[in-house]
Amino acid sequence: MLDRTPVLGIERVALAHCVGRVLAEDLVAPASLPQFPSSAVDGYAVRSTDAGKPLRVVGESAAGRPFTGTIQVGTAARILTGGVLPDGADCVVMVEDVQLVGDVVTTPSPLRAGTNFHAPGADLRAGEMVMRAGTQLGAAELGLAAALNFPRLPVRRRPRVALLSTGDELVEVGEKPGRGQIVDSNRWALLAALREAGAEVRGLGIGPDEPEALRKLVVDALREVDVLVTSGGVSVGTHDLIKPLLESLGTVHVGRVKLKPGKPFTFATVPAHAPHPNPLPSRGEGDMRSPHQGGLPPGGEGDKLAFGLPGFPVSSLVTFEVFVRPALRKMQGFGSLQRPTLPVRLAYDARASADRTEYQRVTLHREGRELVAETTGSQSSSRLMSLAGAHALVRVPPGDHGIRAGTIVDALILSVP
Ligand code: AMP
Ligand code: MG
Repeated sequence: MLDRTPVLGIERVALAHCVGRVLAEDLVAPASLPQFPSSAVDGYAVRSTDAGKPLRVVGESAAGRPFTGTIQVGTAARILTGGVLPDGADCVVMVEDVQLVGDVVTTPSPLRAGTNFHAPGADLRAGEMVMRAGTQLGAAELGLAAALNFPRLPVRRRPRVALLSTGDELVEVGEKPGRGQIVDSNRWALLAALREAGAEVRGLGIGPDEPEALRKLVVDALREVDVLVTSGGVSVGTHDLIKPLLESLGTVHVGRVKLKPGKPFTFATVPAHAPHPNPLPSRGEGDMRSPHQGGLPPGGEGDKLAFGLPGFPVSSLVTFEVFVRPALRKMQGFGSLQRPTLPVRLAYDARASADRTEYQRVTLHREGRELVAETTGSQSSSRLMSLAGAHALVRVPPGDHGIRAGTIVDALILSVP
C-alpha cells in the first residue's frame, strides 16, 4: 500500500499556517545566531584587563540601541540584556557585582574575558543544518525559522481526503433513529483520526446502499481529492457495494486482510484522470470546471487512493491506524510513518485468533520502571469502549498460543498515560 502512496508536492506557507506541517526541504542556517555579541545580563561592558580599577562610564548599550563608541582603557559602558557588546570590551560584569559612585564604576578582580555575553554564532553558526526535511513543525521549530528570518517555509501539501459513511441504516447524529437504524458514528471518529493525521477533510455525509447514487458521490469526490475514505459496505453481503464500485473505477489491490478487527478492509487506486465511466449530464461541452467555492482545489499528482474501511466502528479505526495513517504521513513527507513502540508487560492472558493478527486495545500504567498493559475488556469490533481511552495496541500473532500474562511485548503507543 505504501509503495503505491505518492509523496505530495511542496508549497511555501507563512509561518502562522505551518503548525503541525512537515518541512519539505532541509533548512540550513543562512546566518549565525546571535549575529552580534549580545549581553546575557544587565551590567557593565569592560576590558577584563581593567579588573578592580575605577572606570568612567562613557555610555550605554541597550537592546536595539547599541553604543557606537569604543571602550578604551579605563572606561566602561552600561549594558542591558540583549545589548551589543561595544568594541573594545571583552566581558560584561553583572550590575550586582560592581560599585557605582556617580559615573565611576569599580568591578571585582579578576575578570575573565568572554563572560556574560553570547558570542556571535554561539547558538547557531551560519551554514549549520537546522532541521531535516521530514521534521514536523512545532513551537521551537517555528521560533527557530522566524529567528533565522524565514517568513515562509517549504512544506508538503496536506492530503485532501473525502470521507463517506455508507449504509441505509445510518442516520445523522442528532436525529432520532427509527427501528433498525443507528447513528453514523464512524464519520466523526474518522474525521478526528484524519485531522489528527494531518489531512484536510471533505465530509460527504451518508451514502445509501444503492450503486448508482454511491457511484456518483464517489466519482465526484475523487475529482477533487487525493484520497477517498469510506466506511461500511465492504463485506460480501449483497448490499456491500464499495469493492465492486472501486473495481469499476480503478484497481483493487487489497480486498481482505488477515487482521482482527478489520478483515474486509479494501484498498484501491483510481487513475487521477480516468475517463469518466458515467459522465454527469450537467457538465456540457466546453463547460468550465465548477469553481471550488470554499472547498478544496482539485487534486494533483498521480493516482488517487481509496480506502474502504469496514463498518464496525472499532474495525474502521483500527484499520485506519494500521493502513491509512501511515499512508497519509507518507504523503506529507513525515520522516517516521508508524506509531512509536515501547516494551510493555502484559497484565492479562492475550488469546490469539486462529488465522488473523489481532490488534488488542490496552491501557498502560507504570509499575516501577515498567509499563504494564491491561486489556480494555471485550474486544468486540462494535464496542468502541474497547478503544476509548486505550493507550496502545498490542499485536497478537495468529495461532493457538496467544501471549501469556507477564510477557513483555512491543506495543504501538497511541498516547502516553
Ligand atoms: P457493513 O460493513 O456495512 O456491513 O457494516 C458492519 C456493521 O457496522 C453494521 O452493524 C453497521 O451497522 C455498522 N456500521 C456501518 N457503518 C457505520 C457507521 N458509519 N457508524 C456506526 N456503525 C456503522
Ligand atoms: Mg453496510
